[in-house]
This record gives sequence, C-alpha cells and structure tokens, in this order.
Amino acid sequence: MQHLIHTNNDDIDEKKELKEKVQDETIQKLYHKSEEEKASAIANKHHLPYVDLSLIPVVAETVKLISKEIAQNAGLAVIYKVGKKLQIAVKDPENYETKKALEKIKVEDGMNYSLMVVSEDSLKKAWLSYETSTVTKKFEDQGVTLKKEDLTEFEKGVHNIIDLKKRIAEINTTEIFNIIMAGAIKTKSSDVHIEPNLDYIRLRYRVDGVLQDIVNLPIKASRTIISRVKMLSKMKLNVSDMPQDGHFSINLENKIINIRASILPSSFGESIVMRILSEDSTGLKLDELGFNQYYMEKIEEQLLKPTGMLLVTGPTGSGKTTTLYSFLHRLNQPNIKIITLENPVEYRLEGISQTEIHPDTGLTFAEGLKAVVRQDPDVVMVGEIRDPETAEISIQAALTGHSVLSTLHTNNAAGAIPRLLHLKVSPTLISPSINAVIAQRLVRTLCEHCKEEYAPAQETIDKLKEVISKIPRNSAMVFPKDIKTIYRSSGCSKCNFIGYSGRIGLYEIFTLTQNIEKIILQSTSASEIMAKAREDGMITMQEDGILKAIEGITSLEEIRRVTGEIFVNKA
Ligand SMILES: [Zn+2]
Repeated sequence: MQHLIHTNNDDIDEKKELKEKVQDETIQKLYHKSEEEKASAIANKHHLPYVDLSLIPVVAETVKLISKEIAQNAGLAVIYKVGKKLQIAVKDPENYETKKALEKIKVEDGMNYSLMVVSEDSLKKAWLSYETSTVTKKFEDQGVTLKKEDLTEFEKGVHNIIDLKKRIAEINTTEIFNIIMAGAIKTKSSDVHIEPNLDYIRLRYRVDGVLQDIVNLPIKASRTIISRVKMLSKMKLNVSDMPQDGHFSINLENKIINIRASILPSSFGESIVMRILSEDSTGLKLDELGFNQYYMEKIEEQLLKPTGMLLVTGPTGSGKTTTLYSFLHRLNQPNIKIITLENPVEYRLEGISQTEIHPDTGLTFAEGLKAVVRQDPDVVMVGEIRDPETAEISIQAALTGHSVLSTLHTNNAAGAIPRLLHLKVSPTLISPSINAVIAQRLVRTLCEHCKEEYAPAQETIDKLKEVISKIPRNSAMVFPKDIKTIYRSSGCSKCNFIGYSGRIGLYEIFTLTQNIEKIILQSTSASEIMAKAREDGMITMQEDGILKAIEGITSLEEIRRVTGEIFVNKA
C-alpha cells in the first residue's frame, strides 16, 4: 500500500517535471533569441505584462520597500507603489520562493499587488538600487586629483560607509566640508545639496543633470557645515530664518573653482545648495554638441546668414545657453562685432562684449537692446525673450541688418511661433525676421567603460522600427537598416557607478520655408506648424534621441526620462 502510493506520487511528480521540462524547452527553442524574448514568452504564458526594466526609470526607494535578501531570494523587485498597491516584477511567477514571498506581502504586510514578468538582467538592474552609492564607493579606484590634504584624512581612515559615518562624527568642520566638496569635484558634480531631515542630513550631488544620493550625515554635522558655508560666502552667521546667498572659491592645485552658495530655511533647519561653476563646462565646440549631420548642415547654413533671428527653445537646464555660446564661438571673427545681453553672464568669451542686464536698476533686456543696436553690431545675442518689448526690438534688429540669437521658453520648436504671437509679434513679421527655430534637451551619454549591447524583446524592436519608419524620408538622415540590439550600462568605477558620463543634445530644427510661412499666416496652432515642419523633413527631439540610442550613444531609458513615453509620430 505504502509502496503503491509512493510510486504514484513519484509518477505524478515525474509527469509534472517532464511537462515543465517540455514547456521550458519549448520556450527555450521558440525564444532562444534573447533573455528578453524568454521573459516575454513567460509573460504570455501566464497572461501577465512583460516589461524591460532597461527601458524605464526604476526608483531606488520603491525597490527598497522590500529587503534585498527577500527580493533576491524570491526573484522579485517592487517597481511601482500607489497607496496599498504594488507592482512587482518577477522572473518566474511559478517559482516556489516567489509565491511564498508574495503571499507574505499580501497576508502579513497587507499589500495588494499586480505582477509583471521581467528578465534576469532586468531584475539585476532593479537590485542595483540596494547598492547604496556611498562617497566611499564613488572614490574607489580614482586617482587623487585634489590637493593632498583635502583627501588624505578621508582616504586614510575610511573604507566603508560605517567608517565614513564614524569619521564624520570625529573630524572637525573643515574636514567634513572639504570631504563633501572634494567628493563633488571628483565626481564632476554641478551641484551639492545638503538637506536636513528629522534625524539626519541628506547629502546629494547632481551629476550630469541628475541628483544622486551620496550619504546621510549625522544631524549634529549640520550646524558646523552651515556655519562653514556662511563664513566662506560672507553670509550672516546669526541669521537662520531668511534665505541667503553668496559665493566663494576653492583652490585646487593650480585651478580656482568658483562656488555659488544658497541657503534656504526649511522645516528641519537650513538647507544648502552649492553650484560648482566649472570652467570645464565651456566645451563650446559646435561639433561636440551632438547635432546629427543633417541638422549640422542646416545650422552651418543658418549661421552664415548676415541677418535674421535664430531661436533656441527649451526648458531651464536644457542647454540652450551652451548652444548659443557655441554659435557665438563659431561666429567670433576679428571682422565681426558681437555684443551680448545676458542675465547673468555665464562664461567670458574673448573678443566679445558681454553686458549683464540688471532689471532691478532699470537695465532690462529691452533697454539694453536699444543701446546695443546703436553700437553697430553684426551679431547680437539676447539671453532670453520673455516680454513683448524685448520681442519687438529683437525682431526689429533682425529685420534691419543684424544677426540675432536668442532663446524662448517653449516645449518644442513649433511652440516658438504661438509664443511669439502671444508676445504681440505680428504674424506678418515672423517669416521675414526668423530664420530658424531649434528646440533641444540634454540626455546623459552611456559610460564608454561599462556600456553593453543587449537584445531587447521583439516588441521593443518593433516599436523602434515603427518610430523610425515614420521619420520623414526627406530628412536626409541615415537610418539603421535593421535593429537587433540596443545598449545599456551597469555602472563602473569610471562613471561613479552611475552608468552614464557626460551629456549630449537632442534636437529638432525647422527653418522658415514657404510652407511654414503660409501656415503662420493662417493658423496659430503649434500642432499645425509641427505638421508642416514634418512635411519639410523635421525630425523630433525624441526621434533624434532614439537614433542616438540605437547608435549606443545613450539608452532608451534616458530618452524616455527626458522626452517622455516613446510614441509613434504620424508621418
Ligand atoms: Zn561606467
């Protein structure tokens, strides 16, 4: 009897095993192309959505809702959380450990969840969120480029985060502050954020435009850091309930680095932001901004025109000013007089007279511009057009023999036209005065040292192919023949474990053709202007980005972060 039951059980187990084996083999056979294909097949089998986590931003704090041990043992990662509902990525919904952990989440933690299926690679990427990026880790394998005394202490005693916290508790003000600044400069950060919370201070660096968590400092370090910043930037030491700002400089070997500091009172104390004004960011070579060949030729052609206006649009931090500076750099010849009006002057350019406007003392863009035009310039750069008067004088300057460069705050290139009309520019003046409109965004470029090619799922490839098929064929772009792989990065010591290093622009450009001219006189709708610009061969910022991602310059995740959900444009 016992024997029989035993055999029966064995039999059932064997059958089940065999069935699973066959199923697995079928999956392997059918979808041997890539890990992503396998994940996609498993998802189909269980009627669950499949997601490639290389393509969407993963929020570390969400992943950390479940401990590293549980997540890795169960082969899962929490991707979204809305109220009591979680979206959990799993590799295998049938896995015993996975099911057990999910049961616990439901019963013990009282959370609802929905599942999606991801590949092993995707899970590993999500789990990277557990690797707290610490100052210590970021400094590994990097040569000392700072003044020795700034880092000696740090490198002597600190091997891990515990050491760092201990060290910070022991060392004096100057040392903590120097470690923070040294770290920021080493990681090529643009800003240092020091934010007090209830029982700790959060230290973050902005690297290539994105904030990175560095370390939580003990709350008692707060007072010393704040007084150090105040002292250095000549702020009032005894004032802590008012915003203050100032600047100071750091001597670094033979270089002087200027820092702009700002202090703002918050509910847990004063928070500090320090902007590092690095001279290195003056990479003003036009061919390094990331214009594709097609757009580069358009730009070169436009820059040769002696009159008319070139507008660069985009939100704050999209790199508009750098683009304008590189145009000025290109135009800067002994026989050409260039005057700029800026707020503030960000870089000093030799041979160009740069004027800083001060609206509070009456030197507005409009007033400055009136004076500039009387100085007989060939090229005028107006920092930003944001009021009707500046718009009017700029347009007049462009119509009367000057080349005018400026920026507008709009979301896309087509949006510049309704914006100008809104600033009371007559539609009949737009075509004669505007030569071209450029819109741009900045994306981070994949680290050359740790980027890797991988095969995404077929649905991802199909989407990319569809997007590319809708790019106007008269845009004279080189299109990829076939797409088999795209790129991602895992992070290495060279990129401070971020996976990216440096930034590049995404662009969309249209010139004022007859086609556009006609529509401006008939309609003020950005979407109609966009449609005409597409007819003329304009590729969008997102399309430009997707082509750059296929080339391996950046990742699809980054394109999505900066330009939003990837969608297929109408032809
Ligand atoms: Zn790297």
